[in-house]
Amino acid sequence: MRYIKKLCALFLLLVFAVSCASCAVPADTVSREPGRMEAHFIDVGQGDSTLIICEGKTMLIDAGDDSQGTAIQNYLQKQGIKKLDYLVLTHPDSDHIGGAPVIITKFDIGQVFMSDYKKDNKTYEKLIKALEYKRLSYQTPKVGSEYALGAASIRILGPAGKYGNPNDASVALMIQNGDNRFLFTGDAQEEAEQDMAESIGDLSADVYHAGHHGSKTSTSEAFFERVRPSCAVISCAEGNSYGHPHAQTLNTFRMNGVKVYRTDEEGTIIAVSDGKEIRFDVPPSETWKAGEPTGSAASGKKGAGEKSGSEEEENGGGPSGGEEPAYILNTKNKKFHRPECDSLPAVNRKKSSESRESLISQGYEPCKRCNP
Ligand SMILES: [Zn+2]
Ligand SMILES: [Zn+2]
Repeated sequence: MRYIKKLCALFLLLVFAVSCASCAVPADTVSREPGRMEAHFIDVGQGDSTLIICEGKTMLIDAGDDSQGTAIQNYLQKQGIKKLDYLVLTHPDSDHIGGAPVIITKFDIGQVFMSDYKKDNKTYEKLIKALEYKRLSYQTPKVGSEYALGAASIRILGPAGKYGNPNDASVALMIQNGDNRFLFTGDAQEEAEQDMAESIGDLSADVYHAGHHGSKTSTSEAFFERVRPSCAVISCAEGNSYGHPHAQTLNTFRMNGVKVYRTDEEGTIIAVSDGKEIRFDVPPSETWKAGEPTGSAASGKKGAGEKSGSEEEENGGGPSGGEEPAYILNTKNKKFHRPECDSLPAVNRKKSSESRESLISQGYEPCKRCNP
């Protein structure tokens, strides 16, 4: 009898051990803790991809370039994710949508939010085909509309206008969990930032995902003043050819005591909000190291050998991006500034690519600070 009891106990132990081994496989480890929100700034090299998890609900903002799809898939699966409640593709540049077809094919997707800016290239075509294959439609969410992600709420801030370039047409959103606010603006540049600032009341955020990988074409002074973040996260690759992040953006953060976290230095970065406090899994960066534009991005021309998929900076986003304005005008006090001047006007602002002489002949005066 005792022998049988021992055997039974051994059997039970064995069953328990086997079932435990199977639960070590991440079947469903998505955090469902009440009030907890996680933002995973996934290291996708040069590009963006951020995973938000709140009370078991999930949102992916962008999916890196086409070399990153499988890596993002693996990362999501490691988090126990089978379904994305929201897939947001801020704008159709390859470093934001390239990996999306893999994600769309491999996961259950709830709603798809995309910019209204369309592109006529292979990367965009692949994305549309993947959506069609999964019988998914997408919408460009309206500014001001709100969506729930567990305890967190998502408020749409952009695109707040119609734009002639993909970056400005980025879907921008504020995620609020309790008292904590996270701002994502894709690659929105100054013009779109200005429109957001005009149309949306409160832009203040604790965590700001630096627009356009920390390029100087984004995070304009007036916009920064409205956001006033305590932390900024920059998604970019070490040694990227675009020179991201730009010294000017880093300087704005440094001068204002903003803690900076960078995927090029730390890899994937996780911020956890409990609705009151936000904690990062790595210490803030102390390097203040600006990127250096190199190769084709530095010369503003595309080399013959350059991949056709690298259309990211085609529309004036690059360090010397062709369309960058020579000067910023204040149409009211008739002063003109360099685009990197730290006293650019918040209102009555106009970009100009005219020459210095031509502006002076129109009655404009050079700013005394930046001496254009
Ligand atoms: Zn872009
Ligand atoms: Zn980008």
